[in-house]
Amino acid sequence: MRLEEQPQPAGESPWETALAQLDEVAELMGLAPGVHATLRCPKRALIVSVPFRRDDGSTRVCQGYRVHHSMTRGPAKGGIRYHPSVDLDEVKALAMWMTWKCAIVNIPFGGAKGGITVDPKELSRQELERMTRRFASEILPFIGPERDIPAPDMNTNEEIMAWMMDTYSINKGYSVPGVVTGKPVSIGGSRGRSGATSRGVMYIIFAALKELGLGIEEVSVAIQGYGKVGGVAAQLLHDSGCRVVAVSDVEGGLYREKGLDPEALNRYKRDAGTVVGFPGAEPVSNEELLEIECDVLVPAAIEGVITVKNADNVKARVVCEAANGPVTFEADKILNDRGVFVVPDIVANSGGVTVSYFEWVQDIQAYFWSEKMINDRLRQIMEGAFYEVYEFAAEKRITMRQAAHWIGVGRVAEAHLTRGLFP
Ligand code: NAD
Repeated sequence: MRLEEQPQPAGESPWETALAQLDEVAELMGLAPGVHATLRCPKRALIVSVPFRRDDGSTRVCQGYRVHHSMTRGPAKGGIRYHPSVDLDEVKALAMWMTWKCAIVNIPFGGAKGGITVDPKELSRQELERMTRRFASEILPFIGPERDIPAPDMNTNEEIMAWMMDTYSINKGYSVPGVVTGKPVSIGGSRGRSGATSRGVMYIIFAALKELGLGIEEVSVAIQGYGKVGGVAAQLLHDSGCRVVAVSDVEGGLYREKGLDPEALNRYKRDAGTVVGFPGAEPVSNEELLEIECDVLVPAAIEGVITVKNADNVKARVVCEAANGPVTFEADKILNDRGVFVVPDIVANSGGVTVSYFEWVQDIQAYFWSEKMINDRLRQIMEGAFYEVYEFAAEKRITMRQAAHWIGVGRVAEAHLTRGLFP
């Protein structure tokens, strides 16, 4: 397909942002037009109907997706999201970002993503299990340890991965631990996986602070999204001496200039189900949190939260994208023009897929590593990726995001050209 036949980006949706990022870097690096056109389209996309029985005996039907963006460098890899905003375009964008991310940390995976358009808070645990097992059955021909390996993302967790692994294994007639990552250690999960994305974010923040000449103990941090990634990042950063001054979840946020205590906050959240109302802190909205006085801003929730409307008001010196796609294409330009140091998602949150890769390797070898070995190897890969991107950005006088895309897209393009075009 020729490039001009494909839709051109026009707005700030995740898919438009992902395409605009690819197009920009394709021009910068002089990417071969045929490879560029190929990479603009997902390799394949599956839309499934997910009917499941409610506890009251009625049937509910949700829509599910699994997209393979690229498998050129290896099996496709990417999370499963349960969220009301999930649609095909969002999943396509997330799958494309996974392709670049895996290439940047140089692990032999392509990119995939999946999800169901649903608010899981509306479901009982039994309904969640029935929906998950039906979804896993519907995408079964698409996935497998050599084909596509799902993992947790927003509103999915170890337990959901265990149901997916079980559903796949029952269908095959034998246990296949390598079909998903981010599963419990008791069925072949990896030590260190649950905190890996957050730990990777921490290593990246420390490297960025070092380059900016800022000490870990002198910085304040604001984190949007107090979930699996943001919650653990808050704890790790606090334990390392940073002042975590603001956090939020979907219900709203909190601010305390002297710093919040994540341990006390975790206890509060376990009972209240939200961070909102935590004593001794001022309430702030999610929008206000992004504009708060702080040194490091960590968006760790959803896409498109920093746009042309609020990018001028961001006060942080560093924006570390723990979430995928939190800054839109045009907003990124504004932040960079204002001298904000933005570490893009495809570098900043790549710790999760890196330890997922370790988990897959351990499952295939049936030989498991210590947590220390995992954390040490993770640190080495994260710091390696950060400095490779940082030095390349300096050499080419481009942004961290452009440098990251250049490296990631470049590795995928090289694999395409080496394999050749079939037939
Ligand atoms: P999660 O479901 O565990 O947590 C999400 C958090 O964001 C929750 O606190 C939720 O309340 C909050 N949130 C949801 N919608 C919001 C909104 N509109 N405004 C503000 N807050 C909102 O999910 P997670 O696994 O921590 O993922 C968070 C982000 O990190 C996503 O963008 C995901 O793609 C990305 N990510 C996750 C992993 C991983 O290993 N889990 C790896 C790489 C990237």
